[in-house]
Amino acid sequence: MNALGRHILVEFYDCSPELMNDVMHIENSMVAAAETAGATVINSTFHHFSPYGVSGVVVIQESHLAIHTWPEYGYAAVDLFTCGDSVDPWVSYRYLKEAFEAGHGSAMECRRGQLDLLKRKDFNLESMRDVSPKPVEVAGTITRDVWFTERDENIALSLKHSGNQLYKKDSDYQRVEVYETLAYGNMLTLDGMVMCTQKDEYVYHEMITHVPMFSNRKAKRALVIGGGDGGTVRELLRHEQLEEVTLVEIDELVIEACKLHLPETAVAFDNPRLNLLVEDGIKYIKECADAHYDLIIVDSADPVGPGEGLFTAEFYKEVYRCLTNDGVMITQSESPRFNSAVFVEIYDTYKQIFGKEKVHCYLAAIPTYPTGTWSFSYSSKGNAHPLQFDAEAAAAFSQSQGLKYYNEGIHTAAFALPNFVKELLNSNPNNVTDEYSAEPTN
Ligand code: SAM
Repeated sequence: MNALGRHILVEFYDCSPELMNDVMHIENSMVAAAETAGATVINSTFHHFSPYGVSGVVVIQESHLAIHTWPEYGYAAVDLFTCGDSVDPWVSYRYLKEAFEAGHGSAMECRRGQLDLLKRKDFNLESMRDVSPKPVEVAGTITRDVWFTERDENIALSLKHSGNQLYKKDSDYQRVEVYETLAYGNMLTLDGMVMCTQKDEYVYHEMITHVPMFSNRKAKRALVIGGGDGGTVRELLRHEQLEEVTLVEIDELVIEACKLHLPETAVAFDNPRLNLLVEDGIKYIKECADAHYDLIIVDSADPVGPGEGLFTAEFYKEVYRCLTNDGVMITQSESPRFNSAVFVEIYDTYKQIFGKEKVHCYLAAIPTYPTGTWSFSYSSKGNAHPLQFDAEAAAAFSQSQGLKYYNEGIHTAAFALPNFVKELLNSNPNNVTDEYSAEPTN
């Protein structure tokens, strides 16, 4: 070769948008394309952007293969760069054209580092040799650096994962996926949004259940709308006093995914006291009898997709109707830091239905949720008050059940709100400051 390297600039057109958005398929294909051409793969780094698009590079002993995709155009731009002549990059080109089901591709080869234009420098190799300790490389294994990213308007959360997609199915309502993250264990996402992870789910599930259960000791019947991961009913069923717990989850694939890959949260699905229904919670609550439940927990995802209707005044009025006179409604109420406008709007709705003095907000730290600061609402139909709770029983329960977050101190502290949250809760929903909001409030 009269050049140091061969660089093929590739354009793949008319690829399936799904494939162009499938970070696993793309990463596996790029690694296989390199190996098929005889290259030695060192490591791979791939990023799946939310809402779509993938970027990645495979480092090979003979240089690199890189890609960026535009699923919305069914298009991928690929760089195949090899040095020496032991690897034929055109083999990788043909492999990828097939793997990406490209309608057509165009490619241009450039010779990089024309030898007749280069003059070898006289340098001391020993001084250049990188003697820093290297991780022991096991033959045939490559270090994969694959990242999941949940990106919102102004903020994003990226989690490195093993590259093995544990679960991925599209239901009638949403895309259900489970990733094997390195920091937080298996992670459930719906339409690319983090729902829960093995390493921090207990925060959410302990706070959405034990706060109402210790301030509403006579509760016998509880309803959970959403919550298909099972964590909320797991915690509720720790309370022997509950005679009936009903879970209404719209998407059976969420239950399936968690039974397979988040068994700790799905552990109570076979509990005899659980009445598990796969149904739309909005329809269920409309058909539910008056004053039937002592506790209704709305364990929904964000106000998008199938869950949008779970954030409406109409829905909350039905919840109010179905609560007993001393009943309590608990919801995950988004984050004052993430989108202050949504936060203020939903609290304003609760106050219109339950009364200003009957609505309380409490906070918890959930690392994998946008901004890490999340909130729950406590709305009582009767005189139940979150801070009039049985602290002694709460302390003993937290101990005996081996809880990881909830205890009698956290119960009280969670309602001690920072000034900016108090300000938001007292602000006019039509004029919400964006001073504290990560996302645009307009
Ligand atoms: N902790 C999570 C969060 O805060 O984002 C939510 C957990 S849970 C997985 C949310 C569940 O609500 C999902 O399984 C989703 O399928 C379910 N869901 C959404 N809309 C629903 C509806 N209309 N009726 C019943 N379940 C619904």
